[in-house]
Amino acid sequence: MSSMASGIGRREFLRYSGMIAAMLGLSQGGAIRVAHALEHESDKRPVIWLDGQSCGGCLDSFLGSADPTAGRILTELISLRFSTALSGLSGAALLAEARKARDAEGHIVVVEGSIPIASDGGFSVIGHDGSDVKAKDLVVELSEGAGAMIAAGTCASFGGIPAAAGADTGATPVGDIVDTDRLINVSGCPPHPDWIVASIVHMLLYGTIPARDGDSRPTFIYKKKVHDLCERRAAFDDGRFVKSFSDVKEGEDRCMAELGCKGPIAHGDCPTRRFNSGTNWCVGANVPCTACTEHEFYEAVDPLLFKVADLTPPLGGAGVSADRVATIAVGAAAAGVLGHAAVTGTSRFISSRKKERSKLDIDMARDDDGDEEQDV
Ligand code: SF4
Ligand code: SF4
Repeated sequence: MSSMASGIGRREFLRYSGMIAAMLGLSQGGAIRVAHALEHESDKRPVIWLDGQSCGGCLDSFLGSADPTAGRILTELISLRFSTALSGLSGAALLAEARKARDAEGHIVVVEGSIPIASDGGFSVIGHDGSDVKAKDLVVELSEGAGAMIAAGTCASFGGIPAAAGADTGATPVGDIVDTDRLINVSGCPPHPDWIVASIVHMLLYGTIPARDGDSRPTFIYKKKVHDLCERRAAFDDGRFVKSFSDVKEGEDRCMAELGCKGPIAHGDCPTRRFNSGTNWCVGANVPCTACTEHEFYEAVDPLLFKVADLTPPLGGAGVSADRVATIAVGAAAAGVLGHAAVTGTSRFISSRKKERSKLDIDMARDDDGDEEQDV
């Protein structure tokens, strides 16, 4: 691969390299270093993109990248060798490509979607080579010798929607079946294309996976909370809230917390990076953040538009960190909604919702068939 030889203009290429360098925290000369890595290292670390149990939205988001286009990123900047959705090959020939790419020491495997393990993995068959090749087996097989395993999206990272209550496929996060030392969770529903590319570039540059948080997510992406980067944060601090969706005005700049915004518990640079090549993001489009980057998504934040707390503005005034806001919000929710006396953190609030919901599911199942022992 030589990006210069294959179509991206020098200026565009350097601008893109500069953006990735800034994400990785590289200062002067960073763009040149990233450009060099993309031009000279990517062939040595081919990328295999596997699909598990997903809606295809993560790849769709990636394909929506317009500057440069996803096609250019995939074919000219990184060396994509296997994708069931994008490859011209199919069947055994395509599988052979994946296995060939695996032979390159330090290859990178991107997995989109959770991995179904119930019914011996029979819910997700990626191909056939005399017998069914199941996602759960191929992910493990291709992880051998991999420099990094990138779980792209919240389903791959944490189970996501396929793992929510009622699902019976045994939807499992990638980190539960492969070596987590080399795992990079790039959560989001969907994740921003830049998050995936920058994680790959980090491997090309340093040959190591980036620093990660407690959920194995790169800190250069997920260190800050959405709430702390949101352009409506001042409105939150001032107590100016949108009260209903029919109340949304043109040029709206009021906070969406009353409509269920979960920016105070979500991590990511969505407000400043923005989707569709920097066009807009959730709150910018007057849609509350649903905390789609968190491991609680989807089950524990369903229904998506439930209000986290009875907010009584201002919650401590301007400059209060999202952690503090989340704690205040959770305290209010615990007192006013759940009735739990000692809830002190958002995660506890979310897990208590999870327990309430699974109890509800159990009760409903009992009502349905009267079987006290049923495993739900
Ligand atoms: S609650 Fe949501 S809309 Fe309000 S400031 Fe925080 S992230 Fe922005
Ligand atoms: S703003 Fe919230 S819902 Fe939107 S992409 Fe970011 S974390 Fe997900």
